[in-house]
Amino acid sequence: MAIFIPEDKVLEIKNAADIVDIVSEVVRLKKSGKNFLGLCPFHAEKTPSFSVSPEKQIYHCFGCGVGGNIFSFLMKNDGLAFPEAARILARRYGVDIPKKSLTREQKKRMGERESLLNINRQAMDFFGRALRSKSAGIRAMAYLKKRELSPEIIDRFHLGYAPKGWDHFLNFISKKGAPLTLVEKSGLILPKKDKRGYYDRFRDRIIFPILDVNQEVIGFGGRVLDDSLPKYLNSPETPVYNKSRSLYGLYTAKDKCRMTNSIFIVEGYLDLLALHQHGIENSVATLGTALTEEHVRLLTRYAPRMVLVYDSDEAGIRSALRCVDIFWKEHVDFSRGDVFREEKADTHILVLPNEHDPDSFLMENGPELFQKAASQAPSIITFLMEQAIGKHGLTTEGKIRVIAELQRPLATINDKVARSLYIKQLAERIGIDENIVLEKVREHRSDKSKNESQARHDLADKGSRLEKQIIAMMLQFPTILPAIKKYNVIDYIENDILKSIGKTVLENELSADEQISELLTSIEDPVQQSLITTLAMIEESWDENGCLKLIKQFVTTGKKHHDRKIIEQIKAAEKQNDQETLDKLLKEKQKLAVQSQKQKLA
Ligand SMILES: [Zn+2]
Repeated sequence: MAIFIPEDKVLEIKNAADIVDIVSEVVRLKKSGKNFLGLCPFHAEKTPSFSVSPEKQIYHCFGCGVGGNIFSFLMKNDGLAFPEAARILARRYGVDIPKKSLTREQKKRMGERESLLNINRQAMDFFGRALRSKSAGIRAMAYLKKRELSPEIIDRFHLGYAPKGWDHFLNFISKKGAPLTLVEKSGLILPKKDKRGYYDRFRDRIIFPILDVNQEVIGFGGRVLDDSLPKYLNSPETPVYNKSRSLYGLYTAKDKCRMTNSIFIVEGYLDLLALHQHGIENSVATLGTALTEEHVRLLTRYAPRMVLVYDSDEAGIRSALRCVDIFWKEHVDFSRGDVFREEKADTHILVLPNEHDPDSFLMENGPELFQKAASQAPSIITFLMEQAIGKHGLTTEGKIRVIAELQRPLATINDKVARSLYIKQLAERIGIDENIVLEKVREHRSDKSKNESQARHDLADKGSRLEKQIIAMMLQFPTILPAIKKYNVIDYIENDILKSIGKTVLENELSADEQISELLTSIEDPVQQSLITTLAMIEESWDENGCLKLIKQFVTTGKKHHDRKIIEQIKAAEKQNDQETLDKLLKEKQKLAVQSQKQKLA
């Protein structure tokens, strides 16, 4: 299972590691005052606005707004999850991570995770035995043989069978003594409508266990043996199973992907098994969802070339359009994975001819022809170009439509070299002046960057100036925290994000330079992270009296505003004769009066 990083170890790593050190490997940094400055690795820019503070151990880009600490930098830059980033840093700075020393809460959380994985593992064994049993599994085994799956493939992928009936698995797992509320969390059983007991989710289906890269059983897929519906049924999302992050077959495929530098991505369980059956082992399948950014991020760790395999043009087009966004939007992220620092994800779309799916294509044509077709598969953009040309033709009107259709995908490409090469390709393909295409794409890009700067502006606009100043003060001037508490300052902050940042700072009594980075570890929302780094980097010098004055001014206005609001609400309640609300509001008003009296006395 994934190694859990205890909090004290996270702290130890943080103390040992240096953000300037880590960022320097990716960004050329120059000293500028107290901070270091460089070109942002997360957006394209010519003048440096990416700032790193060695004191606070955080980074912030004044161009695109990203910000965070050493962990989030590694996560974003290399597409890693937190524990992986922590582990890399631990190794690098010689921090030893023991597997014990967990708090009770961590143990409980881990306990549940482990129990669920354990239940899943027992279920996999149960389904596996059922498939091999002479009575129950005979039809299922015959079905797999008909699909020409060898016993080796059936074993390698731990295929199984969920017997016909409502409670075979339920009875099995009950006898094992697992608490049924926990088994319910695994998604393997469902509560009956009348809430009296449970029944099996998977009944009379071939079972495809889903294993993660650590070979843990995280979920299941089930397919019917005939034409009944639904054809496929999957585990729901559980604490151990996240569809947008999981890929079927990745565990079995990953080494081959690294060896061949390429990955085939198909849509179904049986398609995937057919590829493996024919010796094409560098392949994975998505699990009833479209390919997500997280999938791509995960896959770029194993190979730079990806071939998405589809059985029809429409599916191909839909996915190609989505993928243009996924692959290029965060281009910088993908191009800087630790393994493929110099290469970028190179993605191709393979639409099999004659409505073949991978299974039927391989059976008819064999693996050599499949590999040949794959090696000739067009890149996503070329694929979209040819589709548009096929649809609209090369008449004058046709060309206009082709350009209109390609405008957005081309504009999405952030990499300048790639973009200009594709623009040239399109211009040549349809016989039109390159500058015309370029202009069209520019139009679209300037709309896009307008939207981006709008988003930046929105972010900067969050909360009033005074509210932001208060939070900046809390982050940079910890001596003021008792006063913030005493005057209930947080209650008067109206912007939700700022309010929640304020609360977190107070609750954890976090402040002072080195603790800002710690605060960032506990916050996952990128908007909040960005806001925190912005406020923490604001250059201001604080003094006690100035701060107290600011707080009092803020609270007084806040109170007035709040009182006015309550009085308005009281009036409205009186008008409507709503006694209940009225009582509540009057109580609230009284409470406020007492509070401010106390503050005056204190
Ligand atoms: Zn930036």
